[in-house]
Amino acid sequence: MIDDAHLLGVLAAAPPGHLLHCPPAVPFVPHVNLFWSAVTHARRLGLRVPAFELRWAHGGAQATHHGETAWECADGRIVVTMNADLVRPIDVISTSLHELQHVSDARHGFARLEGERRAIAFAFRALEAW
Ligand SMILES: [Zn+2]
Repeated sequence: MIDDAHLLGVLAAAPPGHLLHCPPAVPFVPHVNLFWSAVTHARRLGLRVPAFELRWAHGGAQATHHGETAWECADGRIVVTMNADLVRPIDVISTSLHELQHVSDARHGFARLEGERRAIAFAFRALEAW
């Protein structure tokens, strides 16, 4: 398992909200297809995925954040923002799976570190079964 000190360092380098403020992007169609394949795969593995909104933003190819899930919208919506500038399909798939665990956890109130641990663990497990 990833140790907490390392994970805290990664989280500090990727403050929440980064992608939310990046300009919207028209995504590459294969990326969109990979995202929805990840949703189907996650559900097949038993992940409960409530309704959410998907948006794509220009986060830059070097962005520390590949995706972001926000669930503190005033109206209770869950919004996933994916970085449209990702290049490698595996980054799109692993990011999608990671964010889907956040979507599943959105209303459960996990602390950030615990939420990240869960998202990382689910993405690993789901990639092994891809
Ligand atoms: Zn995360």
